[in-house]
Amino acid sequence: MNVQTDSGELRTLYREVILDHARKPRNFRRLHQATHVAEGINPLCGDKLRLYLMVDDNAQVIDAGFEGSGCAISMASASLLTETIRNLSVREAEACFTSVTARLTQQQASGEPTVDLPKLEALDGVCEYPSRIKCATLAWHTLHAALTQSQTSATTE
Ligand code: ZN
Repeated sequence: MNVQTDSGELRTLYREVILDHARKPRNFRRLHQATHVAEGINPLCGDKLRLYLMVDDNAQVIDAGFEGSGCAISMASASLLTETIRNLSVREAEACFTSVTARLTQQQASGEPTVDLPKLEALDGVCEYPSRIKCATLAWHTLHAALTQSQTSATTE
């Protein structure tokens, strides 16, 4: 009899969420009317993606999509990202970037805005594999680059 602990079951669940998103990425499409576009690259793993955002006059993200190739974690993270930020304000989307990257790198900065992101708990399991953290944060760094337009490409290095 194999009795799993709660945390073991949760880890399995999270892995299933990641695999599901990696196999069937949501919003895997180019947005021809994107207002914000940025590219991200994680040279350590070879993950590449291009993120498209459509932001309206009220600074709301009304649509998001991505294209790219890479490992399951990078694709799942990008897929989760596009689902998460849709219908958020630009400010909220930036807060997501801050929260997710702090959470994954376990450097929760004091005073930073935090947002409740239940869907993204799936990414927490990645913390156990330090070499994969950059795969998970790539999409979020790309989001930050797209929103701030400070650069057109993001890299995890
Ligand atoms: Zn990767």
